[in-house]
Formats: sequence, structure tokens, C-alpha cells
Amino acid sequence: MSDKIQMKTPLVEMDGDEMTRIIWKMIKDILLTPYVDLKTEYYDLGLEYRNETNDKVTFDSAEATKKYGVAVKCATITPNADRMTEYNLKEMWKSPNGTIRAILDGTVFRTPIIVKGITPFIPTWTKPITIARHAYGDVYKNTEMQVPDGSKCELVVTDAEGNETRQLIHQFEGSSGIIQGLHNIDKSIASFARSCFNFALDTKQDIWFASKDTISKKYDHRFKDIFNEIFAEEYKEKFEAAGIEYFYTLIDDAVARVVRSEGGYIWACKNYDGDVMSDMVATAYGSLAMMTSVLVSPDGVYEYEAAHGTVQRHYYRHLKGEKTSTNSVATLFAWTGALRKRGELDNTPDLCRFADTLEKATIRTIEEGVMTGDLAALSTLENKKTVDTETFLREIDIRLKEML
Ligand code: NAP
Ligand code: MG
Repeated sequence: MSDKIQMKTPLVEMDGDEMTRIIWKMIKDILLTPYVDLKTEYYDLGLEYRNETNDKVTFDSAEATKKYGVAVKCATITPNADRMTEYNLKEMWKSPNGTIRAILDGTVFRTPIIVKGITPFIPTWTKPITIARHAYGDVYKNTEMQVPDGSKCELVVTDAEGNETRQLIHQFEGSSGIIQGLHNIDKSIASFARSCFNFALDTKQDIWFASKDTISKKYDHRFKDIFNEIFAEEYKEKFEAAGIEYFYTLIDDAVARVVRSEGGYIWACKNYDGDVMSDMVATAYGSLAMMTSVLVSPDGVYEYEAAHGTVQRHYYRHLKGEKTSTNSVATLFAWTGALRKRGELDNTPDLCRFADTLEKATIRTIEEGVMTGDLAALSTLENKKTVDTETFLREIDIRLKEML
């Protein structure tokens, strides 16, 4: 038996594309395999292999995640027309993240990594704000039309017995216009609520949920009711025991409170609010390259990743033999998040301790002034040094060795 840290159970490793695929290997070689006897079930979600397997590998990796409970994912290309020719694809394969999310029925939580020297645009935000976005329905699965003047538009529902219920949306008189139909399903809202409450308990943080129930008295109100019912029935006591809080408020009030807050809580958002607010929050904290992301299913399966993409422009420079200064922090924290969760589930405290120490060594490296170009452009530290992708990881390793 080696003196490396042992793992009881494997975690699912999903490899990816372009510059993040290069970083993935560097992280493993420099910071993980020298210290941990890594047990992973490997799935290659790189676009070439997805194409070769008709995307079966993505489905298999999601099923394996259900089986093992923990996964770590590298950023992957979501193909568009350019990628069809670049990779000579058989089909325009769907976003792996979308496929995995649908199979796990999960909610995505995004959390910024905070370091000294990089002040958020809202300077009172001294702790991270985690955004949870409901990823089903509403305007993302809408039906919409342009309608000519004189049209009568109605909402018609036909129930299972064939009975119709109608409500007038609008009688267009004197102008043409537009209409839109939206839906959501109770089951998905309930899964979202449970994922949120579980994640709050898991991370011992308060959770806020907000919508526009004063205006949308049936639609948004349904979200509010489902959250409140599930909380009262399944979570109230657990929250009290953990010393954390759930509260519902109007979206306008939530925005005002968020801006005045110091952070340190989870903000659960409906689909559209989450789309917009997660970009706002990420930008305000400074850098997408410092944003981690975890998909949590209502039954407690976790998939960790970086929030950014494959950093394509850096990859093309890398292919030309140039040294890049690509930020590996979010990808590294995806690994530490997954290893810590594996350690918690398997009751292997050494693994959790290693993950904690590696995160501390990373933050210390940046706070001591050694960082990649994207952070150097933001940092107010006086003695800062911009290093290339690999040197940054080696600098972390120097500190990690000291701290272990
Ligand atoms: P991106 O890869 O996040 O990169 C956008 C730009 O942000 C980069 O060009 C770079 O700016 C900067 N950046 C992002 N991450 C960085 C890092 N770690 N270090 C330094 N700079 C970083 O987004 P994209 O260019 O829109 O997408 C590229 C590919 O990623 C696409 O094929 C897309 O489908 C995929 N994607 C995947 C995921 C995922 O798997 N979760 C998410 C989003 C996008 P500069 O070039 O100015 O330095
Ligand atoms: Mg967005």
C-alpha cells in the first residue's frame, strides 16, 4: 500500500475539450496523482469521442454519476455550425450539460471564489453569493406568436376528459401584437425546492427564494406555495437544528437586499431570473474564471465543474506552441469539491483534508501575488507576477507541499 491518500469509492471523471482538457491533465499530473491514489471511472466527453459514440458516452457518464453519487466534469464544446466543419461531426450534438442535467433532474449552484486583492464591484460582498437557477420551463420552453390586428387571443386548456376551459388573453383592436404561452410543472418546481434546501443544509447557509407573486397570482404564486409547503413539511426542523433560515420575498425586494448584503447565502431564482442574475453576480465578483458550479439532484447526487467554457482562443495559441496564462482555479475547485464530497460520503477525512488544503494553497498562491493574466488585470496587489498556465500550478504545488 502506498502512502498516498486512499479512496474507498471511485468518482466519475468527465474529460472535456480544448484548453480546459489541457488544464485537466496538468491538474491531475501536478496536484492530484502525486498525493491521492485517484480512483475514477473515466468518461471522455471530448467532442471527438462524443461524435464517435453518437453521444452515448454522455448518457453513460450521467448514469454512472447516479450510481457513484459524485462526478467532476471538464468544460465541453456545445457544437454549433462552425464546430460541425471543424470536427467533421455526424450531427450537431446537444450540450452535454443539458443532457446530464436532464438525466439527473438537477439544479445548478454557482459560487464565486473570493481572494484578497480582487474586490467585487459591490465592495460589501465579502462572502460568496451562491445562485441557484431553476433550469426547466418558463420562457425557455415557450410558444409565441405575432398576431394581426383584430385577433382574439385566448388561453385554452383541454383536460383529460376533453373539457375545455378558456380565458381571454387579449382582443387586439387597432394594432397588431405579440403573445406568449409559458408553462412549468409542479414536479420540477418541487425537485428544485428540494435541491435548494438540501444544498443549504449541506453548506450551512441561509436560502432566499424570490418571484413576482404579487403580479403573477397563479403562476409565480405556485412556486412560492410549493417552496413553502415542502419547507414546512420536510425541512423546517432540520433548518432550525442547523441554525439556518429560509425565507421568501418579492424579487424586487430580493435584488435590493442582495445589493446591500455582505453575501454568504444562497439565492434561489426562477429560470429567467437565474440566467440574468448569475451573469450579473459573476461579473460583479470579478471573473468568470473564478466561478465554480455544482449540479445537485434532489436525491443528493453531485456533479462539479467550472462555470466557464473551454477557453477556445487560448487553446489555439497553445496549439501554435505559445505559452498561455489560463486560469485553472475553477477547474481545480471542481476537483477539490468532488474529492471533498467523496470523502464526506465515504467517511474518509484524509481526502476531505487534502481537498481543503489544496484550496487553501491555491488561494494563498494568488494572495501572495502569483496569478494568471486574467486575475493580474484585476488584482490590486502591489507585487503581483503574471505566470503561465503550468507555472501557476507548480507554484500552488510548492505551497501545498509545505502545508500538507
Ligand atoms: P469561455 O470558454 O468561457 O471563454 C470566454 C472568454 O473568457 C475567453 O476567451 C477568455 O477571455 C475568458 N476566460 C474564460 N475562462 C477563462 C480562464 N479559465 N482563464 C482565462 N480566461 C478565461 O466561453 P466561450 O468562448 O463562449 O466558449 C468556448 C467554448 O466553451 C464553446 O464551444 C462553448 O460551447 C463551450 N462552453 C462550455 C461550457 C461548459 O462546458 N460548462 C460553458 C460555456 C461554454 P480572453 O480570450 O479574452 O482571454
Ligand atoms: Mg445568461
